[in-house]
Amino acid sequence: MVSTIELTKRQEQILQIVKDNGPITGEQIADQLNLTRATLRPDLAILTMAGYLDARPRVGYFYTGKSGTQLLTENLQKIYVKEYQSIPVVINENVSVYDAICTMFLEDVGTLFVVDQSSQLVGVLSRKDLLRASIGKQELSTIPVHIIMTRMPNITMCERDDLLIDVAKKLIEKQIDALPIVKQSDKGYEVIGRITKTNITKAFVALGEE
Ligand code: ADP
Repeated sequence: MVSTIELTKRQEQILQIVKDNGPITGEQIADQLNLTRATLRPDLAILTMAGYLDARPRVGYFYTGKSGTQLLTENLQKIYVKEYQSIPVVINENVSVYDAICTMFLEDVGTLFVVDQSSQLVGVLSRKDLLRASIGKQELSTIPVHIIMTRMPNITMCERDDLLIDVAKKLIEKQIDALPIVKQSDKGYEVIGRITKTNITKAFVALGEE
């Protein structure tokens, strides 16, 4: 994937020449640098692949005008949910709050997705939902999670082919930590994945390291 690469001194010189003189042929760039066309070929290939330069047959190289930041933005628009998704942890709506707490610890997740008898999404449970239920006086093993969960149709969801940046915006806008990745059918929404702030942080780090 294209990214903000560190340019060598020679690549910077080529960029400057093309900025000042483009469109310009490889031969002409080589002349200005007192180098052969063959020596320059790898640099021109890198600059073209990275999106700094574009080449047109019989015209030559020209500067695309894109900065590293612009390229980064373009790359961000190419990352999809399916590339960073995690496995969802799903419980039935009749499971007790007590068992949901145990599941959250055992599975080491911060959000549980709640489904009905036909495995369709009906709710979401966060850590705070479970904490809130726990500070009441009720017996946790007798309260089913559907009493305390955030329920449909108020669930924010996404699909595998959504852009990760759009999911990140939803997490911020709704002030939540995770979204279920769903597949819609006439029965409802099947939960096929999970995307969390951690997944997005991983994508962010990968983008920075490219
Ligand atoms: P916590 O409550 O532990 O800080 P969140 O910020 O994810 O975790 O959750 C805040 C509230 O939003 C909770 O009541 C939770 O049920 C709800 N919530 C979490 N995820 C979603 C979602 N994808 N769609 C709708 N509501 C959600």
